[in-house]
Amino acid sequence: MSDNYIIITTAREIEKPEEVKDKVIQWMQSNEFIETELTNCIMSTKNKGYKPGKKHIDAIGYDEDILKWTVCGVEIRTEREVFNAGAFTAMTKMECPNCARNRFEGITPQDFFTDNCTKEQLKLFHSVFPEFDNWTIHENATLTCPHCGRITNIEEYKIDNSLSFSNFGLTFWNWPDLTNHFLEQLKSVVGTEINRINGHL
Ligand SMILES: [Zn+2]
Repeated sequence: MSDNYIIITTAREIEKPEEVKDKVIQWMQSNEFIETELTNCIMSTKNKGYKPGKKHIDAIGYDEDILKWTVCGVEIRTEREVFNAGAFTAMTKMECPNCARNRFEGITPQDFFTDNCTKEQLKLFHSVFPEFDNWTIHENATLTCPHCGRITNIEEYKIDNSLSFSNFGLTFWNWPDLTNHFLEQLKSVVGTEINRINGHL
């Protein structure tokens, strides 16, 4: 079976991620969306997560029997990282803050997924990863736009919501879509704008 996930992150880095984490866990546990103990229920050998609680169905709207999966928990991360960077491809839209053109303009899914990109196109794509790493460790992380030549901070790029530059993320492993009501409540507990990423492994 392949694993699906939903990652909810704060839209930007927040000041006290540990405090927000405690608030979110407390809210989710008091509503019985998640269990109170950390167990082996996420896609990780190092970290544990919270299994769906008795009332997790309230968060997804209907019973999908997610407890039948070994990987069905909620993972909480509070370190600075580019969330979902593992799913980054040249199909991710990255618009230059100066000229608004997509860094990967002209690269087709066919060319990208069948290894038919030109050397220049591949260079544009591969040059992004070291900047993700730089951003994570608080180093200068910039990209040079291939269209207008402007050098800007990677964070200033307008990127579709498949990526998040953040330090607070909740991953719901194999949960189906979360209800709007749940997401609105979560947003108010977090206290800032949130971003939702849907993905699969
Ligand atoms: Zn540009």
